[in-house]
Amino acid sequence: MTSDDSSTTELSGWGRTTHKHCQVRRPDTDGGVVDAVLADPKVTIRGAGKSYGDAALPGEGVVLDMTARDRIISFDQGNGVIVAEAGVLLREIAEQALPLGWLLPVMPGTEWITVGGAIASDVHGKNHPGAGSFGRHVRWLALLRSDGVPTQLSPGQDAAAFWSTIGGMGLTGVILQAAIQLHRVETGWAVRQRHRTGSLAETLSLLEALATHQQADPNHHVVAWLDARSTGPSLGRSIVDEFHPATTRDLPAAVPPFPERRGRSTAARPVRSLPGPGLMSRATILAASATRWHLSRSRKSQLVPLHSALCPLDRAESWPAAFGRGGLTQYQFAVPREEAAVLREVLGYLSTGRMAPALATLKNLGFGTAGPLSFPIPGWTLAVDLPARWLHDPEALRPIDKLVAAAGGRVYLAKDALTDPDLIPVMYPRLPGWQRMQARLDPERRWTSALAERLGLLR
Ligand SMILES: Cc1cc2nc3c(=O)[nH]c(=O)nc-3n(C[C@H](O)[C@H](O)[C@H](O)COP(=O)(O)OP(=O)(O)OC[C@H]3O[C@@H](n4cnc5c(N)ncnc54)[C@H](O)[C@@H]3O)c2cc1C
Repeated sequence: MTSDDSSTTELSGWGRTTHKHCQVRRPDTDGGVVDAVLADPKVTIRGAGKSYGDAALPGEGVVLDMTARDRIISFDQGNGVIVAEAGVLLREIAEQALPLGWLLPVMPGTEWITVGGAIASDVHGKNHPGAGSFGRHVRWLALLRSDGVPTQLSPGQDAAAFWSTIGGMGLTGVILQAAIQLHRVETGWAVRQRHRTGSLAETLSLLEALATHQQADPNHHVVAWLDARSTGPSLGRSIVDEFHPATTRDLPAAVPPFPERRGRSTAARPVRSLPGPGLMSRATILAASATRWHLSRSRKSQLVPLHSALCPLDRAESWPAAFGRGGLTQYQFAVPREEAAVLREVLGYLSTGRMAPALATLKNLGFGTAGPLSFPIPGWTLAVDLPARWLHDPEALRPIDKLVAAAGGRVYLAKDALTDPDLIPVMYPRLPGWQRMQARLDPERRWTSALAERLGLLR
């Protein structure tokens, strides 16, 4: 494809809150990527568009869609290193590698994201205390600078530029391809243990206890699903799911080591948003959340396919459509471990403001990376899905921004749609150093995004 081949399309983030008519270029060769980049003074890089907010939407200029760069270049089955173009979906890697006994070391809540998007957001999974975030498993990556010059980066080769790209939100250059180290597994199954807690204190102490196992085993996954209806002493009561990959000894004789996956076309049309407010009224949210908590019981253990254990939301592909025309906002933040009181304050603030989240998850985070804009810090991360129409007042979540920033925490840029820009330098204190590196890697001042403009990420 040449750089002249472009189309105008309406794009949004996964949350469907902001829609923009964009000029999109979708090159299918490295040469086409270079041409597309050099043809326009302002470019926003986009993967599968699964960021909730405006990270992959343009501020000005064109959108460079990387999804046609979707070849797996090599896979060394001896050492588990896979080299993939940036537009390859994590699902594709899982499908190729899992039957051969290799698992992506970090899986976010969906497999429908690209390698480029996983690196640019430095995504994390439910096993963060042991595995860290995605960037930790990238052996090297090829980056196209804004002057059209490709460069190879790794932790040992221009490390500062490498780490500025890990979590750099597509603002340091186009990730063309990357080498990723996979983890060995014996089967494609997970052993799940489900626990039920009666309060936030109980949820936190269970997560603390499980973090010890997670630190010892990078394949140990834990997530708490909070009941949005709970208030008072039961605020923060949860279903806590714990998974680890099954060994062959965990499987009954009749069960094949790798479950068959039911395919789904990657070209599946997105489900249309329901009219008006969709299904998400306060009443439906509260009823569904409480019913789920009441119906679940702590169980001994259960075998589940690994992909559905790690990416449960992929079964609810029409989730954003259920929020109606206004879409959904996910507000995700992290705070240090000793600042757990902020979690209570935030949940209390949402419940007294009658903003019960349609989904609320709490996870342990283990340690940060050298990436100045990388989200994870040691502590807790809480993510809440809210109907965006509840937030038509942009000030609605400002008190939470302030609590998070004052506690030494930060919001997750890949999910963000409305954080107070003045607090970003407080939340990301290494922003000035990252900006200096960004300027070095972007001599043409070409890279942009609606997120970068809204939050003033670029100098
Ligand atoms: C249901 C669901 C569950 C999720 N769960 C999690 C989770 O558990 N943990 C987590 O960390 N995240 C999670 N996410 C967020 C998601 O993993 C990130 O937003 C991810 O970056 C999306 O990747 P993408 O390919 O869709 O990229 P896009 O959304 O298209 O882009 C994301 C960012 O990456 C940049 N980018 C994309 N491709 C390139 C490239 N080739 N070169 C340079 N920059 C590029 C873009 O400019 C943008 O800044 C979830 C999202 C959904 C929809």
